[in-house]
Amino acid sequence: MSADQNCIFCKIVQGQIPAKKIYEDEDFIAFHDIHPRAPVHLLIIPKLHIESLQHVDASHRELLGKMLVLAPKLAAENGAADGFKTLINTGPAGGQEVYHLHVHILGGKASA
Ligand code: 5GP
Ligand code: ZN
Repeated sequence: MSADQNCIFCKIVQGQIPAKKIYEDEDFIAFHDIHPRAPVHLLIIPKLHIESLQHVDASHRELLGKMLVLAPKLAAENGAADGFKTLINTGPAGGQEVYHLHVHILGGKASA
């Protein structure tokens, strides 16, 4: 695992800082956002440190596909079965704060 020592999400992957984890498999973990902006606000991240969507290439196709397939499953299991928004902030102009690729899942009644 090419973990970045200064990356907060790599630290969550490695259990060095706590998170309200809701899912884990060999490639991903998912947890609640620390500052939820909707009644359900989840983050899905690959365990692999990829800085952003601007840093993916064809070798990541399968990983990216699996990450999206997880979204509706985790949404349904965590209170957003009736629909949700997905968001991938990318780069400075895209409002990205944490430079480890992640998908936001925003759901619940107040998410519109
Ligand atoms: P983005 O990079 O897409 O703009 O947003 C990063 C998201 O990560 C923010 O919604 C922020 O609240 C969340 N976040 C930042 N640090 C932590 C943390 O240590 N734990 C958790 N659970 N979420 C975090
Ligand atoms: Zn990382």
